Amino acid sequence: THFGFKQVDKDRKAAMVADVFHSVAAKYDVMNDLMSMGIHRLWKRFTIDCSGVRPGQTVLDLAGGTGDLTAKFSRLVGEKGTVVLADINDAMLKVGREKLRNLGVVGNVQYVQANAEELPFPDNHFDLITIAFGLRNVTDKDKALASMYRILKPGGRLLVLEFSKPEHDWLNKVYDMYSFHILPKMGQLVANDAESYQYLAESIRMHPDQETLKGMMEAVGFEQTSYHNLTGGIVALHRGFKF
Ligand code: SAM
Repeated sequence: THFGFKQVDKDRKAAMVADVFHSVAAKYDVMNDLMSMGIHRLWKRFTIDCSGVRPGQTVLDLAGGTGDLTAKFSRLVGEKGTVVLADINDAMLKVGREKLRNLGVVGNVQYVQANAEELPFPDNHFDLITIAFGLRNVTDKDKALASMYRILKPGGRLLVLEFSKPEHDWLNKVYDMYSFHILPKMGQLVANDAESYQYLAESIRMHPDQETLKGMMEAVGFEQTSYHNLTGGIVALHRGFKF
């Protein structure tokens, strides 16, 4: 039936995302630096600065992958706080856990394998949830946003760092050129995997733009929503509160 096809499509997307991140896990950090020319570090820094996180708080770094944000939050929440790094992919979690251990980030970090659509945490639990470059990989984004809303404490905030829509036509053209031509070639050269990087470029184009994502957050209950464009809107940081 029609509905049957939809389910197959969803399963296929989930399986494809799993394949992609299994195959890029080992080279993920190197590729991130290379493909963004190091700029992802600034985007993440800005996210930390907007997080308002305080010692003793409970933070969820969702789709946390290799744990760049977790490492920073771990220091900020201190020994009385907790950071949960959750990711659907065991290969990414493993690379993340090893990296953070080597950096000496231990004690207040927990690792959980979880799907953003069905988060295995109690209601009203976290002071802050971040999802960085993760939401576009999630099949049912509305379900995932609702799940995040449920586990945030009243007064808690969600930060979504994600590729978005460039503000200018010329930038859009340069960016298209870069991601559809240069990026897969880099993926081929460095990781011997053009396909995964082709997928990444496509998933970026399919992702909702700034206003659409803001509306999706509001639809599941987030209040005082706003966004801030970074690098001309190539990336945007969305924020919303649960009251
Ligand atoms: N947050 C990290 C960063 O900014 O470097 C990693 C981002 S990486 C591009 C995307 C991550 O999302 C991958 O580790 C992938 O396994 C994870 N992911 C994809 N679908 C997911 C889902 N449904 N639930 C949780 N994590 C998911």
